[in-house]
Amino acid sequence: MIGDGMGVTQVSSGIYRNKSLHVERIANIGFSKTSSSSELITDSAAGATAFSIGEKTYNGAIGVDKDGKPKETLLELLGNDGYATGLIATCAITHATPASFFAHQLKRSMENEIAADMVNAPVNLFIGGGKKYFENRVDSKKKPFDNRNIIRELEDKGFSFIDDLDALKTTAGKVGYFIADDQPESILKGRDDILPRSIAPSVRHLQKESDKGFFLMVEGSQIDWGGHANDAEYIITEMIDFDQAIGKALDFAEEDGNTLIVITADHETGGYSLPAREGNYNELDGKFTTGGHTGVMVPVFAYGPGSEAFRGIYDNHQIYHKIRQVLGK
Ligand SMILES: [Zn+2]
Repeated sequence: MIGDGMGVTQVSSGIYRNKSLHVERIANIGFSKTSSSSELITDSAAGATAFSIGEKTYNGAIGVDKDGKPKETLLELLGNDGYATGLIATCAITHATPASFFAHQLKRSMENEIAADMVNAPVNLFIGGGKKYFENRVDSKKKPFDNRNIIRELEDKGFSFIDDLDALKTTAGKVGYFIADDQPESILKGRDDILPRSIAPSVRHLQKESDKGFFLMVEGSQIDWGGHANDAEYIITEMIDFDQAIGKALDFAEEDGNTLIVITADHETGGYSLPAREGNYNELDGKFTTGGHTGVMVPVFAYGPGSEAFRGIYDNHQIYHKIRQVLGK
């Protein structure tokens, strides 16, 4: 589970608002060093690709190494090995973080190409925005991009498209669910609790799809956008929404007893801090040092069998290797 832009302050601000967060149920905690191969401060593409291919790469890279070579992702490795796989995000499914698990493109901005990569990816379930990259595709000048209808192509590959979560219960096989044509709204602008609500039905669906197990990537995408906007309320509401999803995942894992959950971030966004409001140590005043990302370490929370491996301080791409080590793959 990836909280995009979720540094320690973002987690703290959610804890101050809610008194506690589900993430506090987790005891095995570490820190990830987030730099990319090209820059001290990573972007979300290089950050997610480090998790997905197990190597640091350049900012903007989607599922390719630092030389631009496509590398099998963790999702592909497990999907091709018979695991059921899923992706859930509160951004477009073609956006940097989810894309880095199923697509291989030189630049994160190539979202039409990224969408087309879904056709050959071993993905059993995806939920997110970005439908416009799958049909009636246009280029950056709003001219037709090509004649491909990726939704049709995915249907030919066995995908069913659903319009609400309830339909997951009655739909077998590969499933796609677009929650927005472009980017889903923020919580502040009316997005409902689709992210936490999607966890249990998605897990149940993936369990039905394979006896071998499942790999599910869940992203709280917009914590990052609150940081870019230097908007503390945006961060806090997205942080709490993501934490609700973490709670649902922990509920499942506690009962199941055989599921590893890893929660981390690709980087921190905003240089967010919680100083006193006008010297009053009883009041916090969220402040920012940048509209971009920062180079601070980010937390890693791990729950379940093998989660001790995630203690300590290590580079972001080691998370990939630790997951493989725990799975014995
Ligand atoms: Zn960002």
